[in-house]
Amino acid sequence: MSGSGVWQIDGSANVCCCCGQVFREGSVFFSALAESEDGFVRRDFCSECWREQDEADEATRSSGDCFCFWRTRRVIPESRATINTDLLWDFFQGLRDCDSHEKKVFRFVVALYLMRRRELKLIKVVRRQEGELLHCEKRSSDQQYEIEDPHLTEQQVQDAAERLSSLFGAELQPNGEG
Ligand SMILES: [Zn+2]
Repeated sequence: MSGSGVWQIDGSANVCCCCGQVFREGSVFFSALAESEDGFVRRDFCSECWREQDEADEATRSSGDCFCFWRTRRVIPESRATINTDLLWDFFQGLRDCDSHEKKVFRFVVALYLMRRRELKLIKVVRRQEGELLHCEKRSSDQQYEIEDPHLTEQQVQDAAERLSSLFGAELQPNGEG
């Protein structure tokens, strides 16, 4: 269930998945995260194809196939930007009722980074028979979240963070916007 084998991501493709147009430096494009049988996949669209996709696919998007999407800009050299905090929240919320171990790992790691960015505050840790549960609160709100602790080693946290970074094509930095 774990391991990078389930990841079908080519973060360096830099081409539109519809028309094959190569994104030039500075060009704006759209990325969407979708779920497939093999795990999460990222699809990049040029602005034109995104607009068409947008109109044709409104229903698909709202049905939950599209996990989240964002607008981005091709930057050369490949110094990756930082994952935007709103996007991180989106992804975190999407993983709310996650069933697979992999998603639980991602949810925990994203929560960890939201805590490092001071977006999420740890209130308490509840020990249950099934494992530990982190009770967190969103900063400057009373929104609370329960996060299962999958008991990862430091290396496993790093691996998951690296997979998320390549998925989003941006760094999962502890500090906010890049
Ligand atoms: Zn295109």
